[in-house]
Amino acid sequence: MLDIFYHGNSLLHSMGHGHLESPDRIKIIEQALRQAPFKKNFHQAQTVNPNDILRVHDRSLHTLVKASQARGRHMFTPDTIANQYTYQAALTAAGGSIQTGLNAKVRPSFAMVRPPGHHATHSTVMGFCFYNNIAITAGYLRQHNYKRIAIIDVDNHHGNGTQDIFAPSADILYASLHADPSITFPGTGYATEVGLGEGEGTTVNIPLPGGTGDDDYLFAFDTIISPVVKQFKPEIILVSYGVDGLIGDPYGSLGLSVDGFRAIGTRIGMLGKLLCDHRIGVFLEGGYNYDMMGEATVNFFSGLLFPENYEKTMLSPGNEIQRVVFNVRSIHRNYWYGL
Ligand SMILES: [Zn+2]
Repeated sequence: MLDIFYHGNSLLHSMGHGHLESPDRIKIIEQALRQAPFKKNFHQAQTVNPNDILRVHDRSLHTLVKASQARGRHMFTPDTIANQYTYQAALTAAGGSIQTGLNAKVRPSFAMVRPPGHHATHSTVMGFCFYNNIAITAGYLRQHNYKRIAIIDVDNHHGNGTQDIFAPSADILYASLHADPSITFPGTGYATEVGLGEGEGTTVNIPLPGGTGDDDYLFAFDTIISPVVKQFKPEIILVSYGVDGLIGDPYGSLGLSVDGFRAIGTRIGMLGKLLCDHRIGVFLEGGYNYDMMGEATVNFFSGLLFPENYEKTMLSPGNEIQRVVFNVRSIHRNYWYGL
């Protein structure tokens, strides 16, 4: 069973005609999930309490986003544009995300929301993101007795905002696989970015070569993400779920298949069952391959909900990914004995 939190507001926020981060993304994913071969419940997302936003964002960011309601169409950056509904959509995206985090205690849950969040930093709106939904949720859960929270980011792009917010935090692990920052937005997420102060080591970045396919991606997951998360022993796993790593995504640089997404979901589901009673909250980030993202999402959740149904296949990683993994392991061996 999957619990899905969403709100009609997400269909009203638009960054302009023809922009690929569009309401259609939600419609495609919703339609695919309604037809998925597993049980699901759809729930209305609630509006977030602004105090929950201010736990991770500067007040000036909140004031700016709020002001967009009266301003109408407003360009924050060339790629992050609000209309008169953006503020309401951002409030229900963050609210539905907190509900997702809370409900994950009972069973795996999905915040099917937009605008997405993982590029929004403590004080900056950017990369189609206004409030950082997953960070707001992690901040909320930390305040409500969760001692160790793991965030796994599988979006094609590095979640610079989430890293920015939790870099100094030892109790929140941020682990991300993303396309090489030297070739793609937002230009962060090098392996040498490992966190700050007490949080040193609890930021884990795996920059992937352009075109990385299923085997190489899963090899990096198995050799770095899995051992690190196992050693971290989270009480809950939160996932920044971007589906823009799919082959052919107009904003992506990776080459994952729809079956690859099932294998990623299976690995996360197995970690959840092994470590934290299957407490997993999933948060929609990017994804613009309209033809494949519905099927990839159903596959991802099939694997995540029922990991025991899918056997691991033998991987044949290429030389380039083996060099990347060697480099990340040599940096993180100081912090994680499993590497
Ligand atoms: Zn992305």
